[in-house]
Amino acid sequence: MPSEKAKENRALVVTCAACKKSVPTESAVALSGIEDSRRRQYAVCVPCANGGWRPPGFAGIYNPRPA
Ligand SMILES: [Zn+2]
Repeated sequence: MPSEKAKENRALVVTCAACKKSVPTESAVALSGIEDSRRRQYAVCVPCANGGWRPPGFAGIYNPRPA
């Protein structure tokens, strides 16, 4: 059923916190940072993460993935 599949695909999209593009979740990573003294998750596309973008307060380790 193609219509069901299209609906599914649309749900699996996030907005990259760095470039503001809509990317499939499978092409994004969640990086934790701090905003207003609170820990939160930022969805970032793999090219931005590989390019060095990090959320404010990021203190973890990011292992680059193939885009
Ligand atoms: Zn991006």
